[in-house]
This record gives sequence, structure tokens and C-alpha cells, in this order.
Amino acid sequence: MGKIIFWVVAVIVVMAVLRLWNLAKTRAEKSDTVKAKKDNPEAMVQCVRCGVFVPRSEAKKLSDGFHCADH
Ligand SMILES: [Zn+2]
Repeated sequence: MGKIIFWVVAVIVVMAVLRLWNLAKTRAEKSDTVKAKKDNPEAMVQCVRCGVFVPRSEAKKLSDGFHCADH
């Protein structure tokens, strides 16, 4: 009887450890994604007319270079 209780407890402990390990892994992956976003902010481009820096998505690409929203 003592052996059965030991194995039941052992299985429960292993399952709990695996669950915690998976949880920690998922959290680490999530924080890696957040960190990657912080490390790679959107590229800034300089307006060729006024020299102001604007995010790439807000700049207009023309034949002579990038332009800010005012040009
Ligand atoms: Zn400009």
C-alpha cells in the first residue's frame, strides 16, 4: 500500500513540475516577443525638405527621398 501511495504522489509531482515548466516556457516566449518589439522600434526616416525625422509608416516615399506629412 505504501508503494502505491508513493507512486501516486510521484506522478502528481512530475505532472505539477511539467506544468510549471511549460508555464515558465510560455511566459519566457511572451516576454521575448515584447523585448524584441522594444529593441526594434519602427525605423525613422528623415524628410528631405525640412530634415524632420518621421516613422517610416508615416513618411511618403517620393523619387527624391522621404517626405514628412507636411510635404
Ligand atoms: Zn518635411
